[in-house]
Amino acid sequence: MLDVRDLYQQTILDHNRSPRNRREIDDADRVASGNNPLCGDKVTVYLKIKDDVITDVSFSGSGCAISQASASLMTTSVMGKSSAEAEQLFARFHAMVAGEHQGDCEGLGKLAVFSGVRQFPARVKCANLAWHTLRAALEAETKPISTE
Ligand code: ZN
Repeated sequence: MLDVRDLYQQTILDHNRSPRNRREIDDADRVASGNNPLCGDKVTVYLKIKDDVITDVSFSGSGCAISQASASLMTTSVMGKSSAEAEQLFARFHAMVAGEHQGDCEGLGKLAVFSGVRQFPARVKCANLAWHTLRAALEAETKPISTE
């Protein structure tokens, strides 16, 4: 049995090494950019939305392994979801990494490995960056967002 810390490290290494959906969508319906000046992470999220469902999602960016792995996992988690479901997932993820719901990782699937980030408070913003950027894209926020 892997403990959550091993799983956390493995998942981050895996997604950092071979990120999912790391590409630009030329005809994206929504694009938003975010940055985490504390660490130097940058993420841009691209969305295709049809009838309020995310039919395609991708990201580009640079930064630490946690920020990029989190962006990769975020794209696989919200693909095919409605914007309301994606918002809900954002809220749960946010609460989990902030440690507001200790042990409550229900419904988060693979995202639950990011509960390990609680052990590294300085990294919470790295993990959240892609999600804040996703929400900005969903809300059609046009100015760049910052975790600060
Ligand atoms: Zn970072």
